[in-house]
Amino acid sequence: MTTAETEPADRGAQVAARRPAYQAELADGTGRFFGPRRATCPWCESARLTVRLRTTDLLQHKPGRFVLDACQDCGHVFQNPRLSSAGLEFYYRDFYDGLGEQRLGGMFGTRAATYRNRALSVTAFAAAPGSWLDVGTGHGHFCETARGLFPDTAFDGLDLTEGVELAERHGRLRRGFRGSFPALAPELAGQYDVVSMFHYLEHSTDPARELAAARQALRPNGLLLIEVPDPGSRYARLLGRWWLPWLQPQHLHLVPVANLRRRLGELGFTVLLEQHREPHDPIDLLAACWLLLDEIAPREDAPWLPGSPPGRPSRALRTAVLLAGAPVLLLAALLDRLIARVAGRTGMSNAYRLLARRAEPGS
Ligand SMILES: [Zn+2]
Repeated sequence: MTTAETEPADRGAQVAARRPAYQAELADGTGRFFGPRRATCPWCESARLTVRLRTTDLLQHKPGRFVLDACQDCGHVFQNPRLSSAGLEFYYRDFYDGLGEQRLGGMFGTRAATYRNRALSVTAFAAAPGSWLDVGTGHGHFCETARGLFPDTAFDGLDLTEGVELAERHGRLRRGFRGSFPALAPELAGQYDVVSMFHYLEHSTDPARELAAARQALRPNGLLLIEVPDPGSRYARLLGRWWLPWLQPQHLHLVPVANLRRRLGELGFTVLLEQHREPHDPIDLLAACWLLLDEIAPREDAPWLPGSPPGRPSRALRTAVLLAGAPVLLLAALLDRLIARVAGRTGMSNAYRLLARRAEPGS
């Protein structure tokens, strides 16, 4: 639905048009896409760090190697060295927008059940919030769905990308704010009954600043709803680099639930709800098998890959590998569904959700 707005249909032509710019950028290597390596944990400042994961870009196959460190003291997991602003721009390009929009637009557009499930978390605590800000809203699809449950609520969205402007133009949002949340928070101060952040915090360069911004944008007694991947999930260890929620290089911070609860408390929030079963997205095994198949198959053409587009034999081999893997994918999808029933109880859930209430001033 969002695809035809901005993109011609022929992927081959799009790739060819983008190739010279990508190749020129990559001529000097990927060094400038990274900042300096940190010697301390960005969450608690401890110097006791260990390498948790070394990996590559398994989704887009852009060049570069990425390291996630874990803090031995607080358990925080973070990308180290972290992407620089040039790196963020480079690795996000053609993922949610441009070349990648077609694929993701279809995927996000059909996830109404997930969006309903997220919105329902607040109903017991706020039956009819007056205003709701969804931070990291992308193309505003969550707000569009949530309006079905909260018809009298005014939904605004905030995002770094142009999707939020499209969402306002298409009427999915009352207002779409484009920019960084900490930078925009002063002008949004005290305006919202609910602020939501679904799979947003892990993308941020500084989660603590985002939480402070949420506190500022909320009215006293307002609700903050956060959902993030759970680095404590058993799947994270079981599947290693093939665990989709590591999502390198996009995920800069993976926060253990205890850390987030504590930080919210320090900011004057009261945690009302902690959920593990509800936010679990049952795709771990399917995604891992897909990433593995995609890794061993010859590459699909992309403008950041060197050389000329893959020829017919290479494309045929890719198709053959993916077809051969189809039964494995089917089995993985089946297991994902079975495990989802017990994921919350067995520590397999790949995400968690916290709902917290902002204190009144002076309390
Ligand atoms: Zn730490």
